[in-house]
Amino acid sequence: MKDNYLVKAYCMHETVRIYAAITTGIVKTNQERFNLYPTSCAALGRTLTMAAIMSCTYKSNDSLNIYVKGDGPIGKITVEATNGNVRGYCENPGILLLDKDGRQNLSFGVGNGEITVVKDLHLRQPFSGSSEIISGEIAKDFTYYFTKSEQIPSAVGLSEVFNNDDTASIKVAGGFLVQVMPGCKEEDLVKLETKLSHMKPLSEMLTLGYSALDIINEITDGDYIELEERELTTNCPCNKERFQRGLLTLKKADLLEILEQDKKAEITCNFCNKKYLFDENDLKELIEAKN
Ligand code: ZN
Repeated sequence: MKDNYLVKAYCMHETVRIYAAITTGIVKTNQERFNLYPTSCAALGRTLTMAAIMSCTYKSNDSLNIYVKGDGPIGKITVEATNGNVRGYCENPGILLLDKDGRQNLSFGVGNGEITVVKDLHLRQPFSGSSEIISGEIAKDFTYYFTKSEQIPSAVGLSEVFNNDDTASIKVAGGFLVQVMPGCKEEDLVKLETKLSHMKPLSEMLTLGYSALDIINEITDGDYIELEERELTTNCPCNKERFQRGLLTLKKADLLEILEQDKKAEITCNFCNKKYLFDENDLKELIEAKN
């Protein structure tokens, strides 16, 4: 079964756009990359899913960055996305916090603070919008963000289901974004709102193995026009040369100090946790290049 894809559809006489995504593979890959504990995994996973969906609402080479800056133990969440490819990390991957019903306590884990979205749509200046974190559950926070900062009435669902194994690995993850465009009739809006408040919770749809199209079907009662289906990915384009350029911005004296004291430099990519080793010879070459 496909585990990273998005379906885009219209409903309500093409005045409402719906994006539904299954992101199980993306969340699982990041859970393994960073050894994420469940609460950290839920917070980062939902933000990754949101970013992947949002990147599919723009033109193909437009990019966006999302920063969820809460004061909870998970710390700051940073996510980047372009054209359905997404990567990101959170400050503290080792958080497990359950509420009294045994659910991930994201409200406490994320805490209070602000969401900031920076979009580079290749206009003169990047767009930047912020809104307050109102719940920490991420989906509600983005619903609020779209309405408050982008003035687009929206509904967002983001969820995940964990396996009942020792490592609480991800079983399934996904999300949806519903956006109301100008021109939507009041009666259609009421119909949509009624449907959204009475439908199955997303976590239940994911548990039941719903596909992206099944989710759209549930939201619209089958009254939709499918526009496209596309793949989502979580690749990191980092490489040794990129970090080498970073090392070259250090002063020669600092490079000499690293060479003398440690004989090597190990740099970890924040976005994918991959480690790059610069050994004695690499460091000597860099120092040589500074001459
Ligand atoms: Zn990387």
